[in-house]
Amino acid sequence: MPRLITAVSLIALVLAGSVIAQERATFTVGTATAARGQRGTGVIAVPAGSDAALNASVVVFHGAKPGPVLALVSGAHGTEYASIIALERLIGLLNPAELAGTVIVVPLVNVPSFEQKVPHVNPVDGKSMNRFYPGRMDGTQTERASFLITRQVVEQCDHLIDLHGGDLDESLRPYSYWTKTGNERQDQVSREMVLAFGLDHIIISTDRPKDPQASRYLENTATTRGKPSITVEAGHAGTVEAEDVSALVNGCLNVMRYLRMLPGGAAAIEHPVWLDKVVTLASEQTGIFYPLVRRGTYVEQGMKVGYVTDYVGKVIFEARAPVAGVVLYICAVPSMTKSATIANIGVVAR
Ligand SMILES: [Zn+2]
Repeated sequence: MPRLITAVSLIALVLAGSVIAQERATFTVGTATAARGQRGTGVIAVPAGSDAALNASVVVFHGAKPGPVLALVSGAHGTEYASIIALERLIGLLNPAELAGTVIVVPLVNVPSFEQKVPHVNPVDGKSMNRFYPGRMDGTQTERASFLITRQVVEQCDHLIDLHGGDLDESLRPYSYWTKTGNERQDQVSREMVLAFGLDHIIISTDRPKDPQASRYLENTATTRGKPSITVEAGHAGTVEAEDVSALVNGCLNVMRYLRMLPGGAAAIEHPVWLDKVVTLASEQTGIFYPLVRRGTYVEQGMKVGYVTDYVGKVIFEARAPVAGVVLYICAVPSMTKSATIANIGVVAR
């Protein structure tokens, strides 16, 4: 019964991890150390290498009572503001005296992106800070930061939530990702986490790398290390709307209730829309983009969702939905280049 053995050993591993964490009198991440029942603040200090050094702020809440270790990370993309502001709010809300277990909060990984208002990448090395995990110390700033986050955050946690949202140029409706690994016990816990988080559209992700040494994404770095974890997205086009921030804050708190880190029942969303595929609609021309649908619109295959003109108003590309589904995000700005994304469409699982 290999499946049972796998499940049992996973539970044993998870329990062992929690036991180790709860037995610690203090918990340290980077320069942040917290005694039991206290919080500590500091930084994950990424030393200079082929390029500049980087300090990513971190707060550790080491609960008065024993429990699992949950890592909350946002700002890999420093202009996905709603997710960053959500974790800033959580930093103000969490009380280690009331907490069972330990929460690691890293609210802003990509500080240069935030400060310089550069979407998608770290302007220091031009790399996305959610594509180079598990990272390496002899690489550029993004790779060194990814390596230290793997070591200090991922390896020390039992669960991780990676928070994102629509970037400056993305009009996004909220959704989350549930990574299906094939390990039944792990998938059951991550599924319950994503249902507790409460976003009502959930992408079933089956195509992420399985190799922990080539995990690419932050959540996948935790997932491939046997830690049930999820990715969530809310926020759009540079805005910090109360609705998006609340969805992310309440989602984190509800997952903490599900994990029994906070008292109270964790209401789970009962009938989410499961999406089993995401199809990208790319522009075939460079020019000015005009959308015809909003984020969250359900479209039929072939429906016109927008068009591109040249710089004197002539239509040069009609963007039609390649599949039927929900517009997870659509380009929020007129700037459009050939092969850039016009929209991502989620296909409803049947
Ligand atoms: Zn992102």
